[in-house]
Amino acid sequence: MVDYDRRKLIASNHTFTHILNFALREVLGDHVDQKGSIVLPENLRFDFSHGKPVKPEELKKIESIVNEQIKDEMDVFAKEVYPDPVRVVAIGRKVEDLLSDPQSEEWLSISAELCGGTHISNTREAKAFALLSEEGIAKGIRRVTTVTLDYALKAAELASSLGQEANEASKTEGSLLEQKVRSLNGRVESLPIPTAKKAELKVKLSVLQAFHLS
Ligand SMILES: [Zn+2]
Repeated sequence: MVDYDRRKLIASNHTFTHILNFALREVLGDHVDQKGSIVLPENLRFDFSHGKPVKPEELKKIESIVNEQIKDEMDVFAKEVYPDPVRVVAIGRKVEDLLSDPQSEEWLSISAELCGGTHISNTREAKAFALLSEEGIAKGIRRVTTVTLDYALKAAELASSLGQEANEASKTEGSLLEQKVRSLNGRVESLPIPTAKKAELKVKLSVLQAFHLS
């Protein structure tokens, strides 16, 4: 399915640790702190402080903020800053701009972090972003697993074809409907689809179940 080289996949997922961190704070609040991340070619695991499960509608919002940044085709800028020296990575604005007016409120709306990692050079290179799971891993710590590139496009495609199948299933009844709902439930649970979509599909299927199979 995916024929990108490993470096490209890792760079893409790494850049999205920054964008995800930004989006999580936007939606959940400033208490969100990155607690760790594992960047792999096939996905990104990102741990952060938050005291309760992230709601499906919040996940949907987070996912859409990140996808907006891909659509906006933002350049990723990196610059060594002396005397320390540290490397600053800013997405969508030149590091020089930030340094020229460090107190400006404008920077609250962009991602800027200290980082020595390898990045893609423009957010459009990631193609798409999907948030595939959200779970608690310790007290006050949540973990999300996310994907970019074809993995993300594929996840969105899968979700929409399952949605299509659920619509088709609603036109059937009796044991055929029962069979279809059972099959769909299994796949909605196990396939890599965006978490927010997963929640929507589960609601749809439970409605089908309640109204047609009671
Ligand atoms: Zn980084």
